[in-house]
Amino acid sequence: MTMLGDITDLSIDGVLSIIAPRAPLVPLVFDSPHSGLTMPAEFKPAVSAERVRVAADTHVDDLFSSAPEIGAPLLKAHFPRSFLDVNRSLLDMDPQIVGGKWPHPVRESPTAKRGMGLMWRYAWGDEPMHATPISVAEAEGRIRRYWQPYHRHLAVLLNAVYARFGRVYHINCHSMTAVGHAISSDLPGTVRADICIGDMNGTSASAEFVALIAETLRAQGLNVAFNKPFRGAELVTAYSNPAHGRHAVQFEINRKLYMDETTRERTAGYADLKQSLARLNRVLAKYASQR
Ligand SMILES: [Zn+2]
Repeated sequence: MTMLGDITDLSIDGVLSIIAPRAPLVPLVFDSPHSGLTMPAEFKPAVSAERVRVAADTHVDDLFSSAPEIGAPLLKAHFPRSFLDVNRSLLDMDPQIVGGKWPHPVRESPTAKRGMGLMWRYAWGDEPMHATPISVAEAEGRIRRYWQPYHRHLAVLLNAVYARFGRVYHINCHSMTAVGHAISSDLPGTVRADICIGDMNGTSASAEFVALIAETLRAQGLNVAFNKPFRGAELVTAYSNPAHGRHAVQFEINRKLYMDETTRERTAGYADLKQSLARLNRVLAKYASQR
């Protein structure tokens, strides 16, 4: 059985880290699946490392680094999402990138169709990620070494918190480009809100929790959208069940608030945004603890 004391710092080189709470545990768990920039040695893309990292949620793990200070564990992936996206179901595998027949089940997947499935077909736009198809063994290795540990550790964290409190609130942390683009679900050029909260159209978290997030952000001058363009994906659907006290939201921050989208350098707004998120986290910790 998983007990409270089990949440400790952990690092699996090139795969993931867990930063354990630095304060008494609260029923919140944070994860940052797309902020990793480490190129796996086994990854041989046809494009530059910069192209691979273009889709990364650069700095998002740091923006949420207040989580452990308020008593919540923070899990983060080290590798790029285009190599392997843990925010996809294994059923979102794109069989077109594999040489030979993919021997595992797949589903009709809109994300894989756009080239952004479990492993990306294109780097960005229409540049192929791989010069030649990857082997079945290589793809299976990515799943075994990266996808499975990430999901296992996230489930362990969520279950440990749930076992202690009988409820858990999961914040799945991301960033989004300032406007829609060629491979996004919204139209190219669509201007996006400061923050987009995805709750799978009201099914992955309580309305009260989502409203509290939005109110707290708005009080700090940030505008908030819901479920558009991002309603959430695998990480908020796989482990949520609001009727049983398991809540999850996908939290998307507009990159224009904190970084130059070309150089990926932090901009002047970075510190303010980080403080706003720390304030939000304190409000959420209080709410979650008193429920
Ligand atoms: Zn993301």
